[in-house]
Amino acid sequence: QCATVCPVGAITEVSEIDKVWHALEDPDKHVIVQTAPAIQATIGEEFGLEAGTVVTGKLVNALRKLGFDRVFSTEFSADLTIMEEGYEFLDKVENNKPLPHITSCCPGWIKYAEHNYADLLDNVSTAKSPQQMFSPLVKTYYAEKSDIDPANIYTVSVMPCTAKKFEKDREEMVDSGYKDTDAVLTTRELARMIKEVGIDFNNLADDEYDELMGKSTGAGTIFGTTGGVTEAALRTVKEKLTGEPLERLNLGIRGIKEAEVEIGDLVVNVAVASGLGNAAKLLDEVRAGNSKYHWIEIMACPHGCVGGGGQPLPVNNEKKDKRAEGLASIDKNKYVRKSHENPMVQKLYDDFLGEPLADKSHKLLHTHFKARAKN
Ligand code: SF4
Repeated sequence: QCATVCPVGAITEVSEIDKVWHALEDPDKHVIVQTAPAIQATIGEEFGLEAGTVVTGKLVNALRKLGFDRVFSTEFSADLTIMEEGYEFLDKVENNKPLPHITSCCPGWIKYAEHNYADLLDNVSTAKSPQQMFSPLVKTYYAEKSDIDPANIYTVSVMPCTAKKFEKDREEMVDSGYKDTDAVLTTRELARMIKEVGIDFNNLADDEYDELMGKSTGAGTIFGTTGGVTEAALRTVKEKLTGEPLERLNLGIRGIKEAEVEIGDLVVNVAVASGLGNAAKLLDEVRAGNSKYHWIEIMACPHGCVGGGGQPLPVNNEKKDKRAEGLASIDKNKYVRKSHENPMVQKLYDDFLGEPLADKSHKLLHTHFKARAKN
């Protein structure tokens, strides 16, 4: 299944459905689920709905019916990624550190980089992916706020790909003092669970994510498609530096896209690549020392996470376009569209983390990558 679409050949799809059922049935476990941005515009296809149909409320309701104790959104930590990565980029620009800055939120791309572009790892952001920022916060921040022993918390994420399963098993992903993410379900696996218990998905009422780590902005939503991370980051960077809002970038969703973005006196050359073949073209330029870019976003799957290897099948470009349009419509209709304006992210910094890039943020939200044998 994965081999046709998973960008990292070494990663195979191993179902974690049984593990999650066991956790849900265990009365001593407090089971938390986070859902990646793209899922709300893709899982409907598993229930006969058109690609791109936005089913956020039904998704939340279905997860509650399955027995999860709290239903949160990875968009919350996507907003947090923007805070951390935005400040990291600003620090590089202001202190003449090596550029281009290359994004790190796609574990498929990261694994490919570790095998094939290890010489460029210093350019890659140290920010963890939103999945891996979220889970250690559940076992520290949420545990503290809710007065629950983190040893009894079980964290599940619903993700668009199998690369997220590999990522959660990386040995360093234990910054909470426990395994940060306990299980990862792909979109298809979650749909199978919903069908297994006979939930009538299409007729579910809309439900809301739980507070504390369920609030998100439009910037967090567009992480699910190629170009989204860049647009989300520049919304925050531009406003922090100039007080002016960013015009829509409209980078498009196929292949390599580029833009010149004026931020005050600064001209930021950005490039966005989805698909590893496209990424390699940009990276070879960086390696050769003739890249003009300051910021490069890479997503391993063509179209980004809406085209991930764990998404509903069959898929084609038209469906992926519609899924991306679904996410864009959510962003457009959100009241808050900039990560730094997420009130729950502000609360997290005020009550727990302090500042972006400060000690606690560094420990829980950043990581390091390592060279692996070439493949
Ligand atoms: Fe996973 Fe998204 Fe990266 Fe594809 S683009 S490997 S779905 S994180």
